[in-house]
Amino acid sequence: MPLSTSRKAQVSLLLLLTTLLLGGFLATSLVSYYSSRDSIRHNIVNTELPLTSDNIYSEIQKDLIRPTQIASMMSRDTFLRDWVIAGERDALPMTRYLREVQEHYGTFTSFFISEKSRVYYQAKGVLKKIDQNEPRDIWYFRVRNMAEPYEISVDPDMANSDRLTFFINFKVFDYQNNFIGVAGVGLTVDAVVKLVDDYQQRYDRSIYFTDRNGHLVLTGADGGPLGAKRGQALSQIPGMEPLLAKLPQPKSGNFSYQEQGRGHFLNVRYIPELDWYLFVDKHEEGALAGVRHTLYLNLLICVLISAVVLFLVYLATRRYQQRIAALATTDVLTALPNRRGFDLLAAQALQEAIRDKSPLSAMLLDLDHFKQLNDTHGHLAGDHVLRGFAQSLQSNLRQSDIICRWGGEEFILLLKDTGSSTARQLGEKIRQQTEEQMFPFNGVNLRITTSIGITELHGDDSLDRLIARADRALYRAKQSGRNRVCEDVSGLQQ
Ligand code: GH3
Ligand code: MG
Ligand code: MG
Repeated sequence: MPLSTSRKAQVSLLLLLTTLLLGGFLATSLVSYYSSRDSIRHNIVNTELPLTSDNIYSEIQKDLIRPTQIASMMSRDTFLRDWVIAGERDALPMTRYLREVQEHYGTFTSFFISEKSRVYYQAKGVLKKIDQNEPRDIWYFRVRNMAEPYEISVDPDMANSDRLTFFINFKVFDYQNNFIGVAGVGLTVDAVVKLVDDYQQRYDRSIYFTDRNGHLVLTGADGGPLGAKRGQALSQIPGMEPLLAKLPQPKSGNFSYQEQGRGHFLNVRYIPELDWYLFVDKHEEGALAGVRHTLYLNLLICVLISAVVLFLVYLATRRYQQRIAALATTDVLTALPNRRGFDLLAAQALQEAIRDKSPLSAMLLDLDHFKQLNDTHGHLAGDHVLRGFAQSLQSNLRQSDIICRWGGEEFILLLKDTGSSTARQLGEKIRQQTEEQMFPFNGVNLRITTSIGITELHGDDSLDRLIARADRALYRAKQSGRNRVCEDVSGLQQ
């Protein structure tokens, strides 16, 4: 196989392997990435977010339950009711009572508003008188007229620099079930904000509340989605349009949407106690960072393994090719280059000699009556002599000379930087050595002679012409009795 063809075969083998290895690795990595991603998504939507929502909901309920019980107890408290029935004569016992409640139970504020006097009592004393025409006092009249025994509302606390506060407002009745006022406690929303912050940090998700119209009513300390502040409507937040398109009005359920190219998962839950909606939102990126990291690691390992495998295959095929090439250009019997090997080396030597105008001689050798040796002593004896002759021939050469087993019992030499007279001397030396050499085989000392044809390279020679002349010289050596060196100088005479 010519070298270029085998190189092409090697390249296509490597390409095929690269495609198979990388394709296979890529396919398995991507399949595992996508299946992990799907299972993570499924887990977020169906487990994580609803669980957070449940937890927050129950925390809020828990946080509101104790204050609700305290407010309930206040509404049934006999001191409070007796004091009101007795005519609210001295504010001091009442404020002391409210202070005790506030300090002992750790509420933010505690209050009582008397129906009869319309006085607003709180722990620090009398706050004010409430007025039906005052917008801030409307809540009292709402509570008075409602059917339920209590409500939880979120309003600014006028007694405390208008801080946003959860109020638990209980109706108070006398022993004849007449309405005598409203008692209760307030909790700052700060505690809930802290809770939200805590959840946001712990579970890497964004949590906020809206009213039924989608206005933010409560967020973590850093604000709501995309830093939006309390009071803003979701519809006013730039970037939230994709969510709004799916959820124009808050409603409970699971949703997914895109925000600036990032995938989001959202769980919305209605909180009846507050008439609010709780939003628990998680963006995909953080959740998938882990599997994405694994994917990149996988791909890196794949590339490294592929590179190592390809390199090993490359080395193996290159070695194999070199061995094949060596086999194809070497004669098995004598281990000398064969004709194919000779052609490669000779063409180059010829070119160099012509280019450098340096002398080069060709010497063709043919063993005499070799057929006879085979016939007499057997083919194995002939092989033995051929090997021995090749060895001693080689020992007469320089590193730069080119030697080849030309055919059966014929050999050719190309002698670099050698003119015909030196070549003749060498030929004579070889002829003589051959004549004298013995090849012991099976107890018999075999002997052989060789005829040699010599010629020197001329400027316009081709390899074929050079060899043809050497062949002619050899023919003459044979014709003139064998075991001799002849030179063909016909080229010179032309
Ligand atoms: P001549 O002096 O004219 O060259 O006579 P010759 O017998 O050497 O020439 P011929 O071309 O008639 O015979 C060559 C012989 O060399 C015939 C062939 O069997 C033998 N031969 C060729 N290759 C091998 C080989 O690899 N091993 C052996 N043992 N013999 C070989
Ligand atoms: Mg021959
Ligand atoms: Mg011969």
